[in-house]
This record gives sequence, C-alpha cells and structure tokens, in this order.
Amino acid sequence: MSGHTDMVLVDENGMRIDGRTATEHRPIKIEAGVLKNADGSAYVEIGKNKVLAAVYGPRECHPRHLQDPTKAIVQCKYNMQAFSVSDRKRPGTDRRSIEISKITAEALENVVLTELYPRASIDVYIEILQANAGTRCAGLTAASVALADAGIPMRDIVPAIAAGKAVGQVLLDLNKEEDNYGQADVPIAIVPSTDEIVLLQMDGNMTREEFDRAIGMAMNACHEVYDLQKDALKRRYSANKTEEAEADE
Ligand code: ADP
Repeated sequence: MSGHTDMVLVDENGMRIDGRTATEHRPIKIEAGVLKNADGSAYVEIGKNKVLAAVYGPRECHPRHLQDPTKAIVQCKYNMQAFSVSDRKRPGTDRRSIEISKITAEALENVVLTELYPRASIDVYIEILQANAGTRCAGLTAASVALADAGIPMRDIVPAIAAGKAVGQVLLDLNKEEDNYGQADVPIAIVPSTDEIVLLQMDGNMTREEFDRAIGMAMNACHEVYDLQKDALKRRYSANKTEEAEADE
C-alpha cells in the first residue's frame, strides 16, 4: 500500500489495468465438493487468486482445553503456499496468517449454529494456491461454501470482497498492483439475509465519504458473490442426486 509507480492504474476513460471499471469485480469461479476426503470443500478463483477450502467436523475438539460445553468452536487455518506468490513465500505460520485465520473463524462463527454441537470443533482449512490480493476474502468465500457442502447447519453463507482506493479513486476488488500502489483496502464480509457485516478491516486511509462509497460498493458485490456461492452449491447438490440415482440403478 502507498508505494509509488509510473503505471497508469486508471486511464482517462476510467479503465483499470485489467480492463475493469471502478465498480467491477474480477471474474469469479466457485466450485463446491472438490475434495473426496474432506467432509466439505470448495474451490474459488477471483481473478488470479486460486483458493481451496476444506472442512472437517463437527468432531471432537483438540486441544481439549479449548472445548466449550455450551457450543462448538470454529477453528480456522489460513495458509499461503510458498509457490502462491512470485517471490517464494517463506512457508509456515506468520503473524499475517494467524490474524487472517482468527478473523475468518470469527466471521464464520456468526452464521454456524454452534450451539447444536457442544464441546465439538469445526475445522476449516484454507490453502492459498495463487495470490493476487484479496485472498482473505476469497478464502472466506470458499470456506462458507465448504461448510455448507459439509452439511453444517448455518443461518446463511458468508460472501466476502474488498473495496479500496487507488490513484484517488474508490475501486472494487483491488488487484495486486492496485493493492501495492493504492491508498486503502477495505475487505468486508456480510450475512446477506440481514446485511450484517461480519468482517471489516481497513488498511490505509480514506475520507468518510470514500469509506461509505467503498462499503456500499463492496456490499453490492457481496450479494453477487452470494448468488455464485448458491449456484455452486445447487450444482453440487444436483450432481450428488445424479450420482445417487446412478448407484441405485
Ligand atoms: P489479501 O490477500 O487478503 O489482500 P494482504 O493485503 O495482506 O491480504 O496481501 C495482499 C497480497 O500481497 C496477497 O494477496 C499476496 O499477493 C501478497 N502477499 C501477502 N503476503 C505475502 C508474502 N509473505 N510474500 C509475498 N507476497 C505476499
């Protein structure tokens, strides 16, 4: 954020370097149920971001001292692969991945009906295979589809996307160049049925008016992501029904 570049991030026609307007998100692809051995899974692409999420549980909570006798806990592990960025990333846990794991779990705890599974743990693994800014949102989007694919009761699924500011303009879904040389990045996640915000972070600076515009833009886009999440789950459900019908024949 806030580096200097000679790159024209937004041209005189309002076009961004990847051909988008200010209010357009990158192309999004979502697939549910991509892993055989997890209870639930999903694969998400948003532009050049490629993300896998796997869910296990509800299962016995380890370590046991984390067990809550009144409800299940959601544990999340966000991990960026060494090969996910152009300079090899040092593998393993760092402060950033701990932070993203925590905020992702907290966002998901808002929708999972945890009180149905006292003492249990619902474990969510997010693997970033390719990163191009916006991976925490892509990870959370994938994780909520994976939870639904695992059949875990939820009051809704959570879509996420960021808005931000670069070259003085409010832009939806910043790519890596815009994130590097921009002035602000505001990832959000919502519960679409109520428009509650369950994740909101801000890196950089914006005026109050720009902030309101960024939130409005990102909320609208979250509803588009939500439709794609539901489509992915419907496709998965009808594929399952076809498989079951073929097995019965
Ligand atoms: P997000 O991916 O949610 O936007 P950040 O704003 O922290 O999260 O990171 C922006 C982008 O910077 C990432 O998507 C990734 O492309 C890159 N990045 C983050 N951490 C590293 C790292 N340790 N090494 C190389 N690139 C990284």
